[in-house]
Amino acid sequence: METFEQHYESMLRAIRTYAPNTDLEAVERAVRYADEKHRDQKRKDGSPYIIHPLAVAEIVAEIGLDTDAIVGALLHDCIEDTSASFDEISRLFGRTVAELVEGVTKLTRVEFSTREEQQVENLRKMFMAMSKDIRVVLIKICDRLHNQRTMEYQSRAKQVSKSMETMDIYAPLAHRLGMQKIKWELEDSALQYLDPEGYKELVDYLDEHHDEAEAFMENIQTRIRERMSAVGISGTITGRIKHVYSIYRKMKEQHKTLDELYDLYAFRVIVETISDCYNVLGHIHEMFKLVPGRFKDYISTPKPNMYQSLHTTVIGDEGIPFEVQIRTREMHETAEYGVAAHWKYKEGIDSGDGKEFEWIRRLLEDQQETDAEDYIHSLKVDMFDDEVFVFSPRGKVISLPAGSTAIDFAYAIHSGVGNAMIGAKINNRIAGYDVQLHNGDIVEILTSKSAKGPSRDWLNICKSNQARSKIKQWFKKEKREENIARGKASFEGELRRINISPALLQNEELQPLLLKKLSFDSLDDMYAAIGYGGITAVKAMGKIREDLLKASRSAEAPKETKVLEISQSIQQDRHGNSGVKVEDIDTCMIKFSRCCTPVPGDDIVGFITKGYGVSIHRRDCPNARSANNPDLAARWVNVSWITGGEKPFPTTLEVLAEDRDGLLLDVAAALTTQQIRMKEINGKDLPGGRCQFTVTFEVKGLEQLKNIMGRLRSISGVVEVKRGQN
Ligand code: MN
Repeated sequence: METFEQHYESMLRAIRTYAPNTDLEAVERAVRYADEKHRDQKRKDGSPYIIHPLAVAEIVAEIGLDTDAIVGALLHDCIEDTSASFDEISRLFGRTVAELVEGVTKLTRVEFSTREEQQVENLRKMFMAMSKDIRVVLIKICDRLHNQRTMEYQSRAKQVSKSMETMDIYAPLAHRLGMQKIKWELEDSALQYLDPEGYKELVDYLDEHHDEAEAFMENIQTRIRERMSAVGISGTITGRIKHVYSIYRKMKEQHKTLDELYDLYAFRVIVETISDCYNVLGHIHEMFKLVPGRFKDYISTPKPNMYQSLHTTVIGDEGIPFEVQIRTREMHETAEYGVAAHWKYKEGIDSGDGKEFEWIRRLLEDQQETDAEDYIHSLKVDMFDDEVFVFSPRGKVISLPAGSTAIDFAYAIHSGVGNAMIGAKINNRIAGYDVQLHNGDIVEILTSKSAKGPSRDWLNICKSNQARSKIKQWFKKEKREENIARGKASFEGELRRINISPALLQNEELQPLLLKKLSFDSLDDMYAAIGYGGITAVKAMGKIREDLLKASRSAEAPKETKVLEISQSIQQDRHGNSGVKVEDIDTCMIKFSRCCTPVPGDDIVGFITKGYGVSIHRRDCPNARSANNPDLAARWVNVSWITGGEKPFPTTLEVLAEDRDGLLLDVAAALTTQQIRMKEINGKDLPGGRCQFTVTFEVKGLEQLKNIMGRLRSISGVVEVKRGQN
C-alpha cells in the first residue's frame, strides 16, 4: 500500500526540481489542511485519500506551475468532498487558490455522457469556457492523469466511462495545450481500459521485439551522433518507440497488422540553435532515404499549440522507416509541457482578472490541425468570451452567443420548439424569458400545441441571429396570405402604370428571368415581401421594368436568335399605334408574327395569345391555317390595317438564284434604289451552282413590297422570289 510519506517526499522532490520558486510554507499548510479534511476518506485501494491530492500536486509541479496551482491541486477535492468552503479556503490560502479549487470542482460536476463528435467538441469548449483561469484546466488534467494511473481499483463500468471521457475530452485538451507527454500517457492508459485485448496484443508485440528495437535504435542513434560530431554540431539524440495509442490508431486507420506497420520509431535530436536544426536535417536527408511527403517544418510555421520542430521520415539500410524530430531545447520544453512551459518562462504575469489567459483560450479553439494562416486569422475572434454553453435536459450541449436567453435556446433546438414555447426552466426552476444563460445551465423549454407563437418583444430579448430570424420568419409566414394579397394588388398597380398586362408575368420564359433579377423564388414570395414591407412595389418594378417593356414589345419567343435580333431592332424603331385594328377590341397589345412578316396591304388575321395580346399573321400563313383547329378557333379574330403607309414594317423575302459573282451586290443595289433599309441577308449554296438567300428589310406596304419583288426578279440569274415563310 502506498503511504503518505512516499507521496509527500516525491511531491517535494518534484517541486525542488521543476518548480523551485514555490512557497514551501504554503504548500506545507495546504498538505496539513487537506489531510485533515480528507481524514475520514480512503482511496478505492484502501490507502489514505490524501495520497491523491499529493500525487496531483506532484504532477502540477512537474509541469512547472506556480505555488497557487500546487496549493490548488492539494485542495482540489476539498470543496466537493469535505466540509471545506470557498470562503474558508479563500481566508486561509487566498482568493486565487479558492477560485482555482472552485473551478476544478465545477468541472468535476459536469457530466460527460456523449461521444458524438460535434457534441464532444462543444464539451471541450464548454470545459474551457467554464474555467476563467487556465490553471483550472491544467490541474483538472493532472487530476485525471492520476485517476487514470490508479484506475485498476475502479469497477469495470467506471473504467470504461472514465477512459472514454479521457479519450474524448482530456487527451485532446492536453494536446491543444501542447502537453504531449501527458497526452500520450492519458491515451495509452485510456486505451488499456477501452480495448484491453488490442492494447495487450500491442504491448506484447513491442515487448517481444524489444531487443531488436533497442538494437535498431542504438544503431541509428550512433550513426546520427557520429555524423553530428564529425560536422561539429553539438546536441543530443534519443530514440523511442512511439506511444501505444498512436501505433494502435494507425493500425486501425490504415487497416494494417502490426507486422505491416513499420512506423513505430521516432528519434529526437535536440540542438542549440535553429540553424543547427536545419543543418542536422540536411545531414539526415543525406544519410538516409527520404520518405516523400513526410517532411514538415513546424519551426517556420509553428502549430497552433506553439509546437515547433522539424519532422521528417526516412528509411535506413534495414528498410525500416523512422521519424526524426529536430528542435532546440526551448522548443523541446514547449513540446513537452506546452502552455505550462510558457508559464515557466513568463513567471510573474499577474493573475487575477484572467485577461492574461485570453491568448490561451483562443489557442484552444478547434484549430490544431489547420494551417497557421487560418489560425492567425482566427485569433481575431475571441470565441470563449462570445459563447455560452448550456445543456438540454438530455445532456446535449448547445452553444449560444453570450447573453443568450431561453428564447435563443428554444430556437437553437428547433424553430417549432421556439414557436410553441410557453415557458422555460433553468436548472429545474421556472425562469423568465429574459434571464441570461450561464455556462453549464440545464435549460428546458415548456411547449404547448395551443401556444400563440412568439411575441414581438422576443425580438428585443433574444441574442442570437438565429432566433431573431426565425421569429421574424414566423411573423412573415403567419401573415403570408394577407401579405401576398396586399403585395399583389400594389404590384399590379405598378404594372398598370406602364401598361403591362399582369398576364405577361406568367410567361414561362420571362418569369424565371424576372424572378432572378428580383431575387425571389416565386411571384408569391415577392408579393409577400411587398406585403410585409420587405421591399416596395416601386423598387421591385424598378428592377424589371425594362425587361417587361421589352418583352411586351417583342414577339413571341423566336426559334432563331437572328430573327429575334431583327424583330427586336425593328420593334424598337416603332412607336405609337400598331397600324392594325382588332375587331371588337379597342386597345390591346399587337405584335406582328415573325413567321410570315405581314405588311400593310396583306390579308391578315389575328390570334389572341396568352400574355402577349394579339399576334398578326397573313391569312395564307401556314400557322393561320390552324384556325381550323376547333380548340383554337375561338382565339382567331378579324383584324384590319388602319395604317396610312407612313411607317415601315419588317418583312422577309426568299430568293433562289444561279450563283454568280456580284449577285448579292446587285440585290443590295436594287433595294437601295428604293430607299429600303436592309436589315439582314443570309445566303447558302445549293447543289448545281445555285444559291438561296433570305433578305430582311422594311417596307411601308404591300405595293412597295411587290415592286421590290419585281425588281429582284429582273436581276440576272434570279430564278424565284417569294415571301418568307418560316
Ligand atoms: Mn481528484
